[in-house]
Amino acid sequence: MITLKNDRELDRMRRAGALLERVLLALKERIEPGITTLELDHLAERLIREAGALPSFKGYEGFPYSICASPDAMVVHGFPDKHPLKEGQILSVDCGLILEGWQSDSAFTVAVGRISEEARQLIRVTEECFWLGAQQAREGNRLGDISHAVQAHAEAHGYGVIRDLCGHGIGTEMHEDPSIPNFGKPGRGVRLKAGMTLAIEPMIAMGGWRVYVKDDGWGVVTQDHSLCSHYEHTVAVTQGDPEILTYSGEARL
Ligand code: MG
Ligand code: MG
Repeated sequence: MITLKNDRELDRMRRAGALLERVLLALKERIEPGITTLELDHLAERLIREAGALPSFKGYEGFPYSICASPDAMVVHGFPDKHPLKEGQILSVDCGLILEGWQSDSAFTVAVGRISEEARQLIRVTEECFWLGAQQAREGNRLGDISHAVQAHAEAHGYGVIRDLCGHGIGTEMHEDPSIPNFGKPGRGVRLKAGMTLAIEPMIAMGGWRVYVKDDGWGVVTQDHSLCSHYEHTVAVTQGDPEILTYSGEARL
C-alpha cells in the first residue's frame, strides 16, 4: 500500500531529512585516507542520538551498524570495519534515521583522496542519474518515468544498472511501497501523486549489473568486481517540482 503524507507529516519528514543531511555532511568531511569506516559509524550514531533521533539501520533485520559502508566493488550493505581507508578507493555511505517516528534515508559515494578519472566519472554520472530520476517524480508521471530516466543515463555511459536492489517508498517505515527499480519503461507503473515520499537511489556499476552477496549475508558486491557508486535522497512528490528532503543545496531539477 502506498501512503500519502499530509502537510503535517511532510513537515516531520522534512525535519528528519534535514537532520540526516547534517549527519551525512559531517561524515563526508571526515572521509580521507587513514580513517576507518567503524569510526564513521560511531560518529553517525553519536550525532543521530544526540539530536534525539534513532539510527534506523541498527537492528533492522539484524543489521548491526548505523551506516552501511561499501567501498569500491561493494554495491550496498557493507559492514563498517577497522581497516583504514586507502588513497584511491571510493566509498559509499548509506544512512537512515527516525525522528519523532518519521524516517529518512540517504546515501552518497565519495573519493578517498585522489582517484582515477574513470572513478570520478562513475560517481558524477550516478549523481546525475539520481537528479534525472528525481526530475520525473511529479504528480501525474508514472513510476517507470523515474526508472527509465536513471537507466537511460547510466547505459548511455556504458555502465551497468544494478537490478537486484531498488529504491522504495518511505514514511513511518523505512521500506514502504512502491518499489522503485532503477530500470524500466517510461509511461508504465504506478501513477505518482502529491504526498508520496520516495527514496530514489541509483546503484550504478562500471561493468555489468550482476551481483552476489558476501558470506556475512549482507554485503552486496558486483560479480565482475567493477567499481560501483550509490547516491540516494528522500524525495517528496508535489504538484510542482519534487522536494528533496535530505538535500538543502541547489536542486538540479
Ligand atoms: Mg539508503
Ligand atoms: Mg533506501
